[in-house]
Amino acid sequence: MRNKIFRSICFVTMFVLIISMILITGSTYRYFSRGQIQHIKNQLELVSNGVALSGERYFRFFDVDDIRITWISEDGTVLYDNEKNAAEMENHLERPEIKEASELGYGESTRYSSTLLRKQIYCAKKMDDGSVVRISDSQSTFFALLIPLARPICLVILSIIILAFFVARNLSSKIVEPINEIDLDNPTKANGYEELKPLLSRLSVQQEQLKRDRAELEKTEQIRQEFTANVSHELKTPLHAISGYAELLKNGLVEEKDIQPFAGKIYDESNRLAQLVEDVIALSRLDSRVPALENEKTNLYRIAENAIESLEEFAAEKNVAILLDGDRAEITGIPHLLHSIIYNLCDNAIKYNHSGGTVKVRISEESDNIVLSVSDNGIGIPPEHIDRIFERFYRVDKSHSKEVGGTGLGLSIVKHAAALHNAAISVDSKPGEGTKIDIIFPNPDFT
Ligand code: ADP
Repeated sequence: MRNKIFRSICFVTMFVLIISMILITGSTYRYFSRGQIQHIKNQLELVSNGVALSGERYFRFFDVDDIRITWISEDGTVLYDNEKNAAEMENHLERPEIKEASELGYGESTRYSSTLLRKQIYCAKKMDDGSVVRISDSQSTFFALLIPLARPICLVILSIIILAFFVARNLSSKIVEPINEIDLDNPTKANGYEELKPLLSRLSVQQEQLKRDRAELEKTEQIRQEFTANVSHELKTPLHAISGYAELLKNGLVEEKDIQPFAGKIYDESNRLAQLVEDVIALSRLDSRVPALENEKTNLYRIAENAIESLEEFAAEKNVAILLDGDRAEITGIPHLLHSIIYNLCDNAIKYNHSGGTVKVRISEESDNIVLSVSDNGIGIPPEHIDRIFERFYRVDKSHSKEVGGTGLGLSIVKHAAALHNAAISVDSKPGEGTKIDIIFPNPDFT
């Protein structure tokens, strides 16, 4: 860029310089040429007056050698010439200035010498008797004038080239300096050019965006690593329990009466393991953000009916009643994820409930939202935990969660699946009173 500016300044300076020199020299030359012609005309006026008064006698006492005077008769015969012998001169009738003067009273012409270095200017005037008086003078041509000026002109051009070089170098550095000084880490910092401000503020916005993206990426990577570590840990616990019980049974170290409870523990732990694997798979599917199924129009109420049906046995086991009511809301979404949301919320509402408790599932269509609400009158969540329950493997009471068969992933799945449906989540809970979790979907009829 600097070189380009430098070259442009040099080029413009040289161009302006050459053009102005040509113009100045040309107009000076024209000015002097006109002056000379005027001088010849004045001389012509004087001489023609003299000839008109005295005729040939006028030339007898005539002694001028800086200009040439010729007197030509009406038929073109040269009567007098102060530089050549008139008798030897050819007929002048065809000379342009003579011809013009014969016809119009005054004639003028210029003839160049073969070298183009000098030119001859002729001015002629017709007398009353038809004869013509002509005065001529020679003048250097424009080129001839330039020859003696060549040295100073070259000197001037050279000094201007040197000057232009330094000015251009200085100027291009000054123009480029504020651009080079732009602090890319802080582009909006005061800069010399107003014109660059929109570009720099865009750059700043993009950089901020990039920083945010990078931070988000780092965070995602950290979460992924933590998740992998947690999954391994969570898988190890039931696996160790299973292999421990199985080893005791294999070695015949279990009394007859304990065999059934041991087998029951192995059964429970393997169920937990299966649940954990299922949840991990569901989460990693959600993480890849490529849901297996496309969005489709579906009925949230029917999905809720299905989810509750699959939990009926578990609810009965826990002596918890599940009630469903509300509108048959049509929603555009991914049915198996909507099922996961309702299933996990209801599963928690049963798990963290008292015997004889109730779970209420309500689907309501509001003006611009469809709200799925799952409430229970169970153990509730202490306020300091509410913000964290959607984190992976976060449990308020780890041992209680394990006891009731929790994996710590249920609400993470809910959070992810809700986000894929652009749904918001709100939690309202009081320890000892119960919990209400709302999933607020945008109503497709109003968006
Ligand atoms: P888990 O598999 O342990 O239930 P979740 O991610 O589903 O894991 O829930 C995280 C934690 O939030 C649970 O361990 C529990 O402590 C708390 N929690 C979730 N739902 C409820 C609820 N309805 N009532 C009380 N506590 C709940």
